[in-house]
Amino acid sequence: MIKKFKNFIFLGSPGSGKGTQALNLIKETSLVHLSTGDLLRKEIEEKSELGLKLKNIIDAGQLVDDKTVAELLKKNCDLKSKSFIFDGFPRTLAQAEILSEDVLANFGHVAVYFEMPEDVIVSRLVHRRICQKCNAIYNIKTKPPKNDGYCDNCESEKLFHRSDDKEEVIRERVKVYNENIGPVLDFYRNKDLLKVIDANRENRLILDELLGFLDN
Ligand code: AMP
Repeated sequence: MIKKFKNFIFLGSPGSGKGTQALNLIKETSLVHLSTGDLLRKEIEEKSELGLKLKNIIDAGQLVDDKTVAELLKKNCDLKSKSFIFDGFPRTLAQAEILSEDVLANFGHVAVYFEMPEDVIVSRLVHRRICQKCNAIYNIKTKPPKNDGYCDNCESEKLFHRSDDKEEVIRERVKVYNENIGPVLDFYRNKDLLKVIDANRENRLILDELLGFLDN
């Protein structure tokens, strides 16, 4: 029988390691990774009218409006059959309220804030490369692929440098994130649902701490 887990809400600046830990967690649990950034980028790839509008917002490091992101999220999560890792949502208090009232009202969840110094974040994102096929995340300085520019798992798949992983856009994204996250953290703290973790540690230590939250 598949063990039913609590849902995770991953909070933390871009580059704080939420995506990496989500990938690690889904290997050890039946949780499903749901990243609003990934959902938005999929819309962009489809080159719809909405996709074009989204690309301009994302490439400027700004937030997409709450209604658009919330609708996209709701379309992609069926909580009756699965438990999720919400990665990149909520980013505003309005989104936290929607998630709590419309999506997770009857489902157990815990919010985890990945705390990370800003200089580490910028360096991580500038050097980040991603495999769009298996979502593996590399860092060309600290965790390079074996074959320069290609994914270790998918061999012929060329690694991707996100258009918003440029230093000036990264700084804007981090600024926008920090401007909005305070009330979101208070929202979960007041409900006694917030865990704060030191995200500037070895991956395995962080993963073990996350697994511990699921058992409590
Ligand atoms: P991420 O992949 O989480 O770093 O998100 C990339 C970009 O997508 C962000 O900089 C925003 O422009 C947009 N985005 C992702 N999630 C949200 C959200 N919950 N609310 C608004 N914009 C979002």
